[in-house]
Amino acid sequence: MRGNFELIKSGELQYLTIPAFTATGLVTHAISTRKGGVSTGDYSTLNLGLGKNDGRKNVLENRRRFLQALDLDLALLVAGRQNHGSRVAVVTEKERGRGNCSYDKGLPGIDAMVTDRQGVVLSIYFADCVPLLFLDPLGRAIGVAHAGWRGTLAGIGPKTLACMQREYGTEVPHCLAGIGPSIGPCCYEVGQQVLGPLRRFFPDWRTYVVPIGGGKYYLDLWELNRQQLLAAGVREKNIFIGNLCTACNEKMFFSYRAHGGHTGSLAAVLTLK
Ligand SMILES: [Zn+2]
Repeated sequence: MRGNFELIKSGELQYLTIPAFTATGLVTHAISTRKGGVSTGDYSTLNLGLGKNDGRKNVLENRRRFLQALDLDLALLVAGRQNHGSRVAVVTEKERGRGNCSYDKGLPGIDAMVTDRQGVVLSIYFADCVPLLFLDPLGRAIGVAHAGWRGTLAGIGPKTLACMQREYGTEVPHCLAGIGPSIGPCCYEVGQQVLGPLRRFFPDWRTYVVPIGGGKYYLDLWELNRQQLLAAGVREKNIFIGNLCTACNEKMFFSYRAHGGHTGSLAAVLTLK
C-alpha cells in the first residue's frame, strides 16, 4: 500500500496498518475498510459507526469482527460522540466501554482521545475526514483524532499532541504520527465556507489548494495536517501518510462525498499492548 501503510487480509476482513507503528511492538492498531462485515446496501459491509440508519445489531457484529481480527475485545472499546470539534479526552480505565455498544453513551463532544493505559482501545470514526494516529514510544502513550476540515482548521492534531505532552510528558520529536485514508486532494472540492477560515488561519493557504474555477478549490487535508504536525515538532521521517483517497477508492472505503452522504463509517483503533 504505497509503503507507508499495509493492507492486511484476515478471512473476509481487510484493514490497514502502519508498519512503523507495528515495528515498535508497543501497540495494536488498524484502520478499517468496507470489507468483511455484515451490513448491506449503503452500509455494505463493514460499517462501524453507530447512530446511522444501519441496524445496531449489524454494527455491533461488525465491531466485534473487526476487533476480533486484532485479538481485541469490544468491552475495551472507547468511542466519542464526534461533532467536528477539537476537544481531546484523557482516557483511563474508567472510560473503558464508553460508546462501545451505544452511540449515546459515547464521550460527548469528543473528536480526539489520548491514553497511557493498557486495556483501553481508542477509536475514531470517519468517512472522508482524516484519521490521525499518534504514538509516543518513549512515554508509552497514544492518541487518535478525527480531523475533517473543521477539526483540521481548529488544529486538532497539534492539540492532541499538546494533551499528550501535558498529561504524559510526551516528547513530540520522538512521536510517530499516521495520517490515514480520507478524501484526497484529487477529490476534495471546497468553496468559500472552507476557504474563508482557511485564509484567516493559514497565511500560506495557497500551498494547500488547487483552484478549479468558480470560486472552488481542491483542498489537501493531508498536507495541511502534515504541516501542522511538523510545526508542532513531529519529525518529517516520523509522519506516515497513507495517500489513499476514500472517494477514488469508494469500493474499498466509505466516502461521504462519493456516496452522496448515504454511507457507513470507517474506524481507526489504537491500543497499547
Ligand atoms: Zn480522490
